[in-house]
Amino acid sequence: MNKTPSHIQNKIAEIYEYIAKDDNGLPQVPVNLTPILEKFDIKAYNTSFKKPDIAGAFDRPNKTIFVNATDPQTRKIFTLAHELGHYFLHNNAADVLYRESKTAKNTLESEADLFAAELLMPESVIRFYWPIAESIQQLADIFSVSYSAMLNRLRYLDFI
Ligand SMILES: [Zn+2]
Repeated sequence: MNKTPSHIQNKIAEIYEYIAKDDNGLPQVPVNLTPILEKFDIKAYNTSFKKPDIAGAFDRPNKTIFVNATDPQTRKIFTLAHELGHYFLHNNAADVLYRESKTAKNTLESEADLFAAELLMPESVIRFYWPIAESIQQLADIFSVSYSAMLNRLRYLDFI
């Protein structure tokens, strides 16, 4: 049974309409977020934050996501998906939300992380690759996520 709250699952299902599918009808991985940005007219930029430890930010009035340019590619993608989570789930939140690595996570941040994990690592696709992949790292590479993101996801879905 999927532990993810239904309002998040429903939103993800809605968004998957804009994601390419493979021959098995599963979302193509790594999930390409560009069609979502285009469909919903959301801008995304690489930037350097003056304050350390900020991975990304979402500027709601301008529908613009900022991602830390110096982060590894896998983290940038996760940050982008996380900020999209704020766009789709948190209409009434503050105008600008920052993703920081060192602070304790509040509900909004946890929800955005869960949204990102659901979006980038669909359970159906993990289920497909799980018997094939030789290692967690290989699985992480297939989805273009970090080792720790995949590890968290596998634990969350009770694969390990
Ligand atoms: Zn956030």
